[in-house]
Amino acid sequence: MTKNYIFITGGVVSSLGKGIAAASLGAILKARNLKVTIIKLDPYINVDPGTMSPTQHGEVFVTEDGAETDLDLGHYERFIHTKMTCLNNFTTGSIYSQVLQKERRGDYLGATIQVIPHITNAIKERIILCSKNNNIILVEIGGTVGDIESLPFLEAIRQMAVDIGRKNVIYIHLTLVPYISTAGEIKTKPTQHSVKQLLSIGIQPDILICRSEQTVPLNERKKIALFCNVPVNAVISLKDVDSIYKIPKLLKNQKLDNYICEYFQLNAPEADLKEWEKVINAEKSSNKTIVIGIIGKYIKLPDAYKSVIEALKHAGLKNKIKVNIKLINSQNIKNKNVRQLKKLNGILIPGGFGDRGIVGKLLSIQYARENNIPYFGICLGMQIAIIEFAQNVVGIKEANSTEFDPECKYPVIDLINNQNIHTCTKYTKKNNNIDLGGTMKLGSQPCKLSINSLSRKLYNKDIIIERHRHRYEVNNILLKKIETAGLKVTGRSQNNNVAEIIEISNHPWFLACQFHPEFTSTPRDGHPLFIDFIKSAGKNKKN
Ligand code: GLN
Repeated sequence: MTKNYIFITGGVVSSLGKGIAAASLGAILKARNLKVTIIKLDPYINVDPGTMSPTQHGEVFVTEDGAETDLDLGHYERFIHTKMTCLNNFTTGSIYSQVLQKERRGDYLGATIQVIPHITNAIKERIILCSKNNNIILVEIGGTVGDIESLPFLEAIRQMAVDIGRKNVIYIHLTLVPYISTAGEIKTKPTQHSVKQLLSIGIQPDILICRSEQTVPLNERKKIALFCNVPVNAVISLKDVDSIYKIPKLLKNQKLDNYICEYFQLNAPEADLKEWEKVINAEKSSNKTIVIGIIGKYIKLPDAYKSVIEALKHAGLKNKIKVNIKLINSQNIKNKNVRQLKKLNGILIPGGFGDRGIVGKLLSIQYARENNIPYFGICLGMQIAIIEFAQNVVGIKEANSTEFDPECKYPVIDLINNQNIHTCTKYTKKNNNIDLGGTMKLGSQPCKLSINSLSRKLYNKDIIIERHRHRYEVNNILLKKIETAGLKVTGRSQNNNVAEIIEISNHPWFLACQFHPEFTSTPRDGHPLFIDFIKSAGKNKKN
């Protein structure tokens, strides 16, 4: 199968939405029956984002095979409906680490190890490793052209056109075309400069995607085409839109996919974007609005909860409900009757690490439980729900997690003893169980659901497979009293019988899970737990 590569770089400024643009283009090409995959290259030195703070990097997205990756992989999965793997994202750090391991083993037979060719070769090998069984491989280069740290990636993708053949490589450059209101003009100069910078590295872009507030008019597109040496029909305008799901159509309307297929000489049927139309129509047809509170630590940073927020919106689409999301700082919740909680139709506590803000989370769960407010706990949100129930219903005041109090008397949540440590062995040797990075229960694991439970009804399956990312889990030995008091375990891991889902049945909707269902929700299908949570929150009347 001929492999065609589309390399996407960014220019002028960061945060232009390169990931969404790449995912949207992937979605159109997939809709043309092409086999598409997307790879994200991150120029930072961390081996993966697993140990990085969400304030630095946003959410850590977890793949089925247990890689901790950039959140853009979440967009890729949601847009192109293809499962990402540990090969779809790598960093400068992981490349260096791999090259250094080889150097220590003597694999280079005494050569001097250099950025070119050793680092660039390792980058190219990793791109090619991920290309198997695909006609189109989109490769998004993180950062902005001009950054020192992304140079080896740019050099590697420059070389790939020589290795593979220029006719099988397209370079797309995503830039900003600002509107200067005082002059009343759209400015093309930053784009020209950015392209110049790319040219100085040896890359002539074939397509320019211009991000702007308003559509870039033909005259300006002609000007960009002339100065940047690309045909005018390859200067694509990508204006701000109120929904990211409108972007595939916006790109298709400008025939970006036709241009690419002609360039690669691919004979692929027209893209059918009906599924996307449905999503956009569902967005328009919501007939009520509800407010869901996400109680967490990163309220100024919605990207920290990207997949959760997306999954809530997908569930809204499925219920024809507009979901407004309120990020609430758990540290501001000092008692269970705070006004902030009273306005919510539903409460969700997402995953998290460390003891900061735990008290506010315990109070929010108590409030939801006692006042029949739909509650959805995810990972940490399940662990805290168990602690809350043990403390306030069972009456064990010392119940806690050893994550927050290693010496606690009643550790209802404890370190995973038999840790199923993940390491992607496709390109490195297996780690020992000593590091913080890559030493959690990670990735997809099967879970058995109990008959007559809400989860069993919602999934309509006995065994489900969901993705994990945690170091602590429910302590089975201390569960009996809690279950007798009314909090039931309705899902258990298939391999070692650990609690994975809990439910309280005499409550309108109280469900929490140890895994992360948000990672598998898509705009087209939603996720059964999120869909039912929103349905139930929709019935919970608030003013
Ligand atoms: N901190 C908890 C653990 O390590 C929960 C992790 C999470 O919410 N992803 O088990």
